[in-house]
Amino acid sequence: MVVVAKIGGSLLTSAHDYMKVVEKIKELAREDDVIVVVSAMKGVTSKLIETLSSENPERELREIFAKHISILEAVSPSPEKGIREMSKLLDEALNGIRRFKAGMIDGKDIVLSMGERLSIIILREALRRENIRGVSLEGGIAGIITDEEFGNAKPIMDECMRTIPSVLLPILGEETVPVVAGFTGVTRDGRITTLGRGGSDLTASLIASVLRVRLLLLYTDVPGIMTGDPSTVNHARTIPAVGLEEADAMARLRVKKFHPLTFMPIMRLKPRRMGIFIGTLDGRGTRVVRRRVPPPIKVVSPRGGEIVVIGHDPSFLLDIVKPEWKVSVVATEEPYAIVRPENATRKMEVLDAIHSAILKMIGG
Ligand code: ASP
Ligand code: MG
Repeated sequence: MVVVAKIGGSLLTSAHDYMKVVEKIKELAREDDVIVVVSAMKGVTSKLIETLSSENPERELREIFAKHISILEAVSPSPEKGIREMSKLLDEALNGIRRFKAGMIDGKDIVLSMGERLSIIILREALRRENIRGVSLEGGIAGIITDEEFGNAKPIMDECMRTIPSVLLPILGEETVPVVAGFTGVTRDGRITTLGRGGSDLTASLIASVLRVRLLLLYTDVPGIMTGDPSTVNHARTIPAVGLEEADAMARLRVKKFHPLTFMPIMRLKPRRMGIFIGTLDGRGTRVVRRRVPPPIKVVSPRGGEIVVIGHDPSFLLDIVKPEWKVSVVATEEPYAIVRPENATRKMEVLDAIHSAILKMIGG
């Protein structure tokens, strides 16, 4: 059976990190055929965005590329082919900058796509070092066909359902690991697009849903979905399981760092038997499941002067909220509620109180 593993950029900072990912892929490949979706290295997409407004974009791009080449050399005993590919990409990136400066709409995405396009080369070579055959595929090559909203392109589902299997299934048949560049796609007429920040999540869930794989793994450096942001609440904890609708609400409301459309392909294509895991490479994290699981509210997050509370039964809040908190609760038909403190300065206090109630329900 097939597993899709997405490697988040937060996990990729060094040659050593790529080798750790290779170990994980080896482990997964003992049981399943593996498709890997890779993000850009940590911080690289943001740096690429900065080059667009830089005085000296060429120098900055060269620095970014030099760093990737040195990591490639560290993972690979024979890096020549990868280096050649990277130099071609550098020319393309410089051309992207020129197009962007000339006001052409596709210039920006050419530049932004580079982080993932470099990352797949490194991972492919890192796999090769361990005698695993990998093939690197840019999103568009892997069948991610999108509209022309550059910078925030949406996959065209009908087309992706044809193209993704036609590309990836034959590769799996050859016992080769496809290493797909997340975040990137292509328009019908062949221009590179990007899916918006965090887009590798969407790439992975789209491929997994279209192929109806056994398991979708979204690997990151945090142990899954937590009850709150550890920097804003006390004793934030990982929630062992959340419902798909809840996860979708977290993504769409940007309560968690997923791309807002991460769960869209799963909701639309309903690959019923697909398991979903979000968390660290060593297995700490959260499962996303089809059924409703306790507790009825799960996650709190500040948002402007308000508090967003995610959970399949947001009306449950009405039992928790105390009159002296002086808040109003807007429960919705969807799996979230908005809590408005009358006095915005009390927001963090109320947030922590709701969070404590969630911790109590989780127990332990
Ligand atoms: N590299 C892109 C970003 O930083 C996409 C991703 O990591 O999912 O937003
Ligand atoms: Mg991300």
